[in-house]
Amino acid sequence: MDVVRRLKEAGFTALWAGGCVRDHLLGKTPKDYDVATDATPKQVKKAFAKRKTVDVGASFGVIMVVGPRGAGEVEVATFRCDGSYSDGRHPDSVTFSSPEEDAQRRDFTINGMFFDPLEHKVLDFVGGARDLSQGYVRAIGDPHARMTEDKLRMLRAVRFTASLEFGLARATKAAVTEMASQIHVVSAERIAAELRRMLTDQHRHIAVALADEVGLLREILPEVVMPGSGEAPEENDGRKPQVVLATSENLSPQLSALRLLQQPSFELAFAMLLRGVSNIEAICRRLKLSNDELEKTAWLVRQQDALREPDKLTLAQLKRLLAHPFRDDLLSLMRATLLAEHADPHPVLFCEQFLEATPPKVLNPPPLVTGNDLIALGLKPGPRFKQLLDEVRDAQLNGELADRSAALEWVRARLDVKS
Ligand code: ATP
Ligand code: MG
Repeated sequence: MDVVRRLKEAGFTALWAGGCVRDHLLGKTPKDYDVATDATPKQVKKAFAKRKTVDVGASFGVIMVVGPRGAGEVEVATFRCDGSYSDGRHPDSVTFSSPEEDAQRRDFTINGMFFDPLEHKVLDFVGGARDLSQGYVRAIGDPHARMTEDKLRMLRAVRFTASLEFGLARATKAAVTEMASQIHVVSAERIAAELRRMLTDQHRHIAVALADEVGLLREILPEVVMPGSGEAPEENDGRKPQVVLATSENLSPQLSALRLLQQPSFELAFAMLLRGVSNIEAICRRLKLSNDELEKTAWLVRQQDALREPDKLTLAQLKRLLAHPFRDDLLSLMRATLLAEHADPHPVLFCEQFLEATPPKVLNPPPLVTGNDLIALGLKPGPRFKQLLDEVRDAQLNGELADRSAALEWVRARLDVKS
């Protein structure tokens, strides 16, 4: 409001624009506020000479105004219309223009409105208010043309439809369905960013189901739609392996479990979606996820069933799992999986009680024997060295070794047997 007021004082038109208007009208707190104005970037900078401004996209006419401490920043963009799109993602050029034209370049009617926060007036050139009240995500103008310009809009359509619990307007949905195979024009990073937002949203199961329905899921995560596609075919009588049809049917267990996750991390929701899929690392790399995301997702998928029968694990196995840094996500994964299967939640309760009853120094005690001890015993680091360390750690966690000297004795005995 401050930014709008300042621009108006300087004699310009200034309005809230796009997503923040949508969220404001829905009574939600916007993630970020954008202001649109008839001031040129130069004039914007001049109007905010006393504030810090950053050229975030000078060629697109976007200036970021940094607010007072704690207030965040506001992107101020000059009303513009976009030129042609030749790369399927970005306009080749932009021209400064009017609010009417600026509305036309936006993706969906609900994202195409302006709001004057001082006068409390909505400016709607695209029928956004009606779609917002009726609950539709509808492309502005010809859906096919708009998706052709910028293919990222296909994923945005799915994300907004799911997160708002709206319907996707028929022609818009048809355009997305028809063009889904062209999503690969969009960079892996942007696809992953959309996936992160869809999967951490409360309506993640709706997003996945809709992405499946319009054919985007098959493009982005074929492994999920066609389980086994990344694995070696099973041995059979020499005929071609059976192709699993791409239907939502084999997705439904994941969808119920996804729905049951409560405020999951991205990795947890992603691991749930990837249940039963084998080549997790390759998928994460293809989507250019961070190494941390890859590590956590892959671990969670690998251990997805490890806590199904916790009372059948050795003490060492149980302690290792429950002392792991990703333990809380693993327990949430197990809880939602069991709930989705209408199975007894006992395994999770068992683990929670075990954790409550087990002090940290029993759950994850300092090792009795370290690599230095093995070196002192004349061993050289290598696979066998590592294995021995793991074994003595297991014995310790299983409560088989009273103290350090017992542990060293145990190692020596193993060495004698082996040699
Ligand atoms: P959120 O911030 O919650 O993701 P948003 O609608 O604010 O939703 P932003 O990415 O912040 O999304 O973009 C702000 C506005 O810019 C949008 O509301 C829309 O009007 C316009 N916009 C963003 N991306 C596109 C796009 N790919 N094509 C056309 N218009 C877009
Ligand atoms: Mg926004």
